[in-house]
Amino acid sequence: MFKKVLIANRGEIAIRIMRACRELDINTVAVYSEADKNALFAKYADEAYYIGPSPASESYLNMDRILEVAHETGSEAIHPGYGFLAENPVFARRCTKEGVTFIGPDASAIESMGSKIASKETMRAAGLPVVPGSNESISDVGKAADIAQSIGYPVIVKSSAGGGGIGMKVVRKKEELEHAIESTRRVAKSAFGDSTVFIEKYLEEPRHIEFQILADTIGNTIHVCERECSIQRRHQKLIEESPSPVMTPELRERMGNDAIKAAKAINYTNAGTVEFLYSKGDYYFLEMNTRLQVEHPITEVVTGISLVKEQLRIASGEGLNHKQEDIQQRGWAIECRINAEDPLNNFTPSPGKLRRYRSPGGPGVRVDSGVHTGYTITPFYDSLISKLTVWGENRDEAINRMKRALYEYIIVGVTTNIPFHKAVMNNEYFRRGELTTHFIDDHNIIADVAKVVEADKEKGATLASAIGADDKKVAAITAAVGAYMQGAKAVGKDDHKR
Ligand code: ADP
Repeated sequence: MFKKVLIANRGEIAIRIMRACRELDINTVAVYSEADKNALFAKYADEAYYIGPSPASESYLNMDRILEVAHETGSEAIHPGYGFLAENPVFARRCTKEGVTFIGPDASAIESMGSKIASKETMRAAGLPVVPGSNESISDVGKAADIAQSIGYPVIVKSSAGGGGIGMKVVRKKEELEHAIESTRRVAKSAFGDSTVFIEKYLEEPRHIEFQILADTIGNTIHVCERECSIQRRHQKLIEESPSPVMTPELRERMGNDAIKAAKAINYTNAGTVEFLYSKGDYYFLEMNTRLQVEHPITEVVTGISLVKEQLRIASGEGLNHKQEDIQQRGWAIECRINAEDPLNNFTPSPGKLRRYRSPGGPGVRVDSGVHTGYTITPFYDSLISKLTVWGENRDEAINRMKRALYEYIIVGVTTNIPFHKAVMNNEYFRRGELTTHFIDDHNIIADVAKVVEADKEKGATLASAIGADDKKVAAITAAVGAYMQGAKAVGKDDHKR
């Protein structure tokens, strides 16, 4: 096992990785930007080094500087977390070349999944079902119209190099096609530096279901079951759960085996995720993420396996700790991404200082976060405050526990999407497990969020003013905190039905 690992990331995921390292007795090296010089993750590490100004391009994406720190500190390996350099084959290759282990798959596996067009082709050849569509880049509108006609509208125009749902456009009729192609191409060029776009059939009411993969370097590949990530805004996940409410043992076996097949097709090693769209009993390969996912905690919670420790073990050359037949999901896990953003204003980011921060706790609650009272969410990076994960014996208990935990969350100073999560937990379709990627629009969740915000307002205002008035008035603050947490009763399931 490694003795020292550099974590080329920030915030909650840097801390998550360092926690695993600490439990494995591995020393940690943090790298931080100007904006993060007082951040918790940098303090948490055994050593921390400044790598550049706040913009990611000058710090967390600065390969030269990160590798320099790795060499100076004698780090044997680099964990890239997610985002930033995690799926950058150039970085993975440079690490290998410079004698530092990249904790992730081989650069060639990253490369082969970097282009959505090429990855769909690879998976089609490996025998996986893929969404019907163009298997090459779309250059002229006439040809695109022919393909759209043959697969049938609606279609979706996507960036081949894309990620984060950025730039995708749904096209319902031929007249909209040209504009959509131009728009996606423009966004793709500026976001990913690559204007290659393609089209595929737009599935009307899909669910997003993905499988976690673990593969060691001595030939063992297993799946660690599924996660359902259908609750999304702008094609980005907000709530994830495991198991999926639609999963059966037979379907799990089929999809899981296909996920393993996908990994083996590209000689995959380390942790990865094979994403599928599921619709009316059928499923289609969507893409493979060659890294740790944001939503990995729900898998850890229901299977008891530490994915980060597995990543470290695999990268150091050890064989998998688990066999396929040992993998079992126990109970139910749900994760809510708690972001500094305003759900009532199109989920616009709301950076700022956390004047008060108190996270929930108690049985079955896990909080992955890198913030604290006084911490400032900067506009330089994403607006994630924490990942709130709960475990329950069954789905109902997990939902009730999540609701309880959401009402225990105290965040003063920035607008958060907690009211959104409360509204979803109260929604009768969500409670019945009837999910699609259009859930937010289909059930007019934003109207429910407005009601939650209204109901929370009075108690929240009392709390904010008690906190603001005088920090010494501990009794007043404690009383206001207690009253605020009682909100779970006020906006209950029945209240929602009225
Ligand atoms: P990205 O890499 O940008 O995240 P993905 O291809 O993984 O893009 O898709 C992200 C989300 O976009 C999916 O979870 C789904 O909600 C939606 N989506 C993508 N392709 C389709 C499709 N063909 N039909 C319906 N929805 C789609």
